[in-house]
Amino acid sequence: MPKLLLATNNRGKVREIQALLGCTGVELILPEEIGLELLIPEEGQTYAENAARKALAFARASGRISLGDDSGLEVDALDGKPGLHSHRFAPWPDATDADRRAYLLQCLQGKPRPWTGRFRATVAVATPAGEVRYALGACEGEIIPEERGTNGFGYDPIFLIPALGKTMAELSMDEKNRLSHRARAIQNARQFLKEMLGV
Ligand code: IMP
Repeated sequence: MPKLLLATNNRGKVREIQALLGCTGVELILPEEIGLELLIPEEGQTYAENAARKALAFARASGRISLGDDSGLEVDALDGKPGLHSHRFAPWPDATDADRRAYLLQCLQGKPRPWTGRFRATVAVATPAGEVRYALGACEGEIIPEERGTNGFGYDPIFLIPALGKTMAELSMDEKNRLSHRARAIQNARQFLKEMLGV
């Protein structure tokens, strides 16, 4: 079975990507399974740059085709913040996902609702030789002031999908994987993933 290395250690993302690619005839490998520990600083100016850096670093270090992703939440009332900095969006070090949600809501205090925004994801698939291909996905929604739901990770409990009346954290994994930014990006990557892996 062809193997694809996931260039991430984020548990929430790994679970989603495994569910999305589980039935494609591709075996997914995690860095820890092959003893690979790489910390790639997210210093790029775009999601694509960060996704490619991760995918390329893991592909070169492992000799395997690797999938990296970068994602973020863009809130219109905050001029697109936290965006590329979603993972580090808190004024103190060692912040948790819950701290980041609380800080985001603090930043939105006093701003008129609805607090519209979107998640964006870019997936990059790289070969050890340095070829990189990209796919994008987005999911529109609204930030709400109270947390709802316990599934997912990150900003999911305060990200409402208005058409469903549910937050991302109230969706099952299957439901989230039908409409999320990452699901859409991976769906858009499927064709070239198959070509690159020779499936
Ligand atoms: P990165 O893609 O590892 O840089 O992480 C981006 C950050 O955006 C994550 O740590 C989360 O805070 C947030 N994020 C990205 N995707 C999601 C999602 O599906 N749900 C909730 N938060 C997300």
